[in-house]
Amino acid sequence: MTDTTTKTIISIDGRILFFELNHFLRDIVKGDCCFICGASPKDKQFNDEHVIPDWLLKRFKLHDKKIILHNQTKIQYSKYKVPCCVDCNSELGKQFEKPIQQLFSKPYNEMAKEIKEQPEKIELVYRWLCLIYFKTHLKDTLLRASLDKRGLNQFIGDAYTWEDFHHVHCLIRSHYTGARLEPEVYGSVYVNRIVELEGIEKFDYIDNPWTKGVMLRIGDFAIACMIDDSTASASLYHQALNKITGALTIYQFYEVFANFNFLKLHLKQHTIYQSEINRKVGYRIIANRPERIELLPAEERAGTHGDFLHLYVKRTLPNMDDREKILKEIEEGKRSFLWNENGEFNEYKD
Ligand SMILES: [Zn+2]
Repeated sequence: MTDTTTKTIISIDGRILFFELNHFLRDIVKGDCCFICGASPKDKQFNDEHVIPDWLLKRFKLHDKKIILHNQTKIQYSKYKVPCCVDCNSELGKQFEKPIQQLFSKPYNEMAKEIKEQPEKIELVYRWLCLIYFKTHLKDTLLRASLDKRGLNQFIGDAYTWEDFHHVHCLIRSHYTGARLEPEVYGSVYVNRIVELEGIEKFDYIDNPWTKGVMLRIGDFAIACMIDDSTASASLYHQALNKITGALTIYQFYEVFANFNFLKLHLKQHTIYQSEINRKVGYRIIANRPERIELLPAEERAGTHGDFLHLYVKRTLPNMDDREKILKEIEEGKRSFLWNENGEFNEYKD
């Protein structure tokens, strides 16, 4: 998961095409430069960019609500912004937010059809999710102090983590740098309609920094995405996904996302990403996928899909007499929302 180019590369018209890793760490991660073009606030006018897009904050009336960060501190959504110059901010609006808002305002079936039939739409959704993921963790210096109780983050060194972010940074600036993403660069993406349950918020965002999984619920549908698995998780899980024949409850969707995360975490080999810049091909981001998609042997795995599912369900499961029992069964992998005892899809019925 590294970009092997070692120097910052600047285009003839003065744009930074590629940030050398230390340049990226100094100016973007630790500094306050625009996270797209890299300009300093001393040189350009800044108006900063909402981490969760403003149109979503408006639609779900979130401006005054608070988001809980990985270290359990809370920030008001309206103040949850990252440094961005005025030019790049309005370009992000044009490139991402306008077309995405338009797409996601359509009735679910229409939107799903467009995503299925027009590859450029799902590619845009993928890059948009990468963008939200990147913004979420930019400046989040406590990211490494994840409260994951299994201590899985002890396997993620600082340098490794930032190299991973470096790749995501290359992806989210591709509209600015003109980088072409090879088809293998795109990760697993799953979309489905969500049935409404009383008392459950219609907006939800979850990500997992140690798997780079992102999940977003937007009203009557949800999207799950694994940023850097080159679709390996969806390939390994495709038989189960094919058995899902209807809309899901949010708990069923969490189960899909939990499986994606479990599979990504335990892939035996990972894709290596590279930025390739030269006069002949221009700038392209390529993915060197492992020859085979395999999981680590069971004895080398650090957890189960139940561990992930437990984390997600715990956040929203209402108080009820057997709440603790249900959560324990989920953690032990004894309870599924998706499948009945015969392994058939549990279709939600009112
Ligand atoms: Zn900028």
